[in-house]
Amino acid sequence: MAANESAPRSHAGTGVTPLSGVGSAVWYDPNADLELGEPPAAEAVDPDAERERFEDARDRARAELERERERTAERVGEDEAAVFDAHKQFVDDPQIIDGVEAAVDDGLPAEHAVDAAFEDPIAQFEGMDGRMAERADDLRDVRDRLLRLLTDADRVDLASLSTGSILLAERLTPSDTAQLDPERVAGFATIEGGRTSHAAIFARSLGIPAVVGVGDDLESIDDGTDVLVDGEDGTVIADPTPDQRERAAGGRDVEIREEPVATADGRAVEVAANVGTLAELEGAVAQGADGIGLFRTEFLFLDREAPPDEDEQFEVYREALAAFPEGRVVVRTLDVGGDKPIPYLETPDADNPFLGQRGIRRSLGPDADLFETQLRALLRAAAAESGTLSVMFPMVATVPELEAALETVADVAADLESEGIEHERPELGAMIETPGAAFIAEELAERVDFLSIGTNDLTQYVMAAARENERVADLRDPCEPAVLRAIERTVAAADAGDAWVGMCGEMAGDPDLAPLLVGLGLDELSMSAVTIPEVKAAIADLETDAAEALANRATDAATRTTVYEHVNTTTDQ
Ligand code: PEP
Ligand code: MG
Repeated sequence: MAANESAPRSHAGTGVTPLSGVGSAVWYDPNADLELGEPPAAEAVDPDAERERFEDARDRARAELERERERTAERVGEDEAAVFDAHKQFVDDPQIIDGVEAAVDDGLPAEHAVDAAFEDPIAQFEGMDGRMAERADDLRDVRDRLLRLLTDADRVDLASLSTGSILLAERLTPSDTAQLDPERVAGFATIEGGRTSHAAIFARSLGIPAVVGVGDDLESIDDGTDVLVDGEDGTVIADPTPDQRERAAGGRDVEIREEPVATADGRAVEVAANVGTLAELEGAVAQGADGIGLFRTEFLFLDREAPPDEDEQFEVYREALAAFPEGRVVVRTLDVGGDKPIPYLETPDADNPFLGQRGIRRSLGPDADLFETQLRALLRAAAAESGTLSVMFPMVATVPELEAALETVADVAADLESEGIEHERPELGAMIETPGAAFIAEELAERVDFLSIGTNDLTQYVMAAARENERVADLRDPCEPAVLRAIERTVAAADAGDAWVGMCGEMAGDPDLAPLLVGLGLDELSMSAVTIPEVKAAIADLETDAAEALANRATDAATRTTVYEHVNTTTDQ
């Protein structure tokens, strides 16, 4: 077919994997055949029979969920599979069951009763921020599963989509995404969704090109249209030009470097991976990561009913270290609050959760017990493997906070010692994510082995532009001179305090910014594993002098536009 008869039409969204794919659009509307229509008159409904139908649907839903759990554990990983346990809990949720039974008693057939009983819980989660809002997806998923079972509607089989399909949907639920076969699906794009949605996380784990949050514009693409999904730029192009197709199909023409990398004149820069689950370790090793620069441990605490205990955490950290016997694994202690609430931890609503109790503030307050348990597991893991374990604290804003965290480590070490349990003091570090931390980076650096700059939060706080607010997305750019100067002074403070300094925000994974970041003096860059080869290649091409000259020009610039002019001049040379 002549792919370029029509002019290409480009739609912007959020890219969630730095991969591109071209294929034929297939719209997925899981509810197309779930129209329930008007319920029959109440007198025509036999409540006992409807209760039985509901029980039967629940039994079958549990069995399906168990099968999907196993399949996901095998294909994606145990941690990702845990979402199906959460779905099973929704199937057995007393509030929902009561709701269905009450509606059946009022004369509704089971399917209408299920539809009604899920309405309020879904609306409640929809009204919340960030990851909590994604629980609404989970609830819809469970509701639709029950409705399909009750109405015998066919389930669209996403696992057997034709090879070369680009899946388009309003949104994809966790169970939808887990079914996708990366060998067949060339990519997907959704109207809704953000970088932290389950669909995005699964896409990254499965290596599927994906763009989320495109908006209603996506609906202008018809079934069967040739579509390019560029997960790196965050664009979806209908009827791409031959050039665009070639670039996407050419895939990644980049060498995987397993060895550590240095600039052309010999300055070593560690390039590490950001992970949230053990399943991602394999990908990190495969992409040539020197180690892990950010293990987001909150993923271990999500989608379950209770926190993981000391032994479970010990095994996870030990396994992460075992993947890099000669490298370093930086584990961040629990960073909940803000956009990362965990239901069983009671993160109270706040008008502005990003400015509330999150990260270290919780670990030194309401989550002190969890903090100790996590530190015990970490200190034990440090002694159990040959790799270097580093532990860092998120959202530090003051010296007393850091000192209290360091003291807790010392107390935990003393407890383990007196209990005769093998342990080792890991390297300790502070994240620089708040303007406060950047301003007192000298005092922080003197007290730790390393600093790690979290540019995602640092940018939102320096620029006063919330991470999830699309209306201020333009301001949320780490190349704003104000952010660059915060990074510059953090690096200088680390040097003065004899601490190494890394970066683990999204900025670190942009190969075009590698010259700027090396020039700024970062010792380590940590990113999503898929971007490691490009960043290593960019570093290997650099001359340190030129990189430093660029960093000086960039930090002196008055505007972001000028910063990009300097960056692009260097990249184009
Ligand atoms: C950051 O803020 O840059 C960071 C790495 O932490 P997270 O994205 O998990 O908040
Ligand atoms: Mg952060």
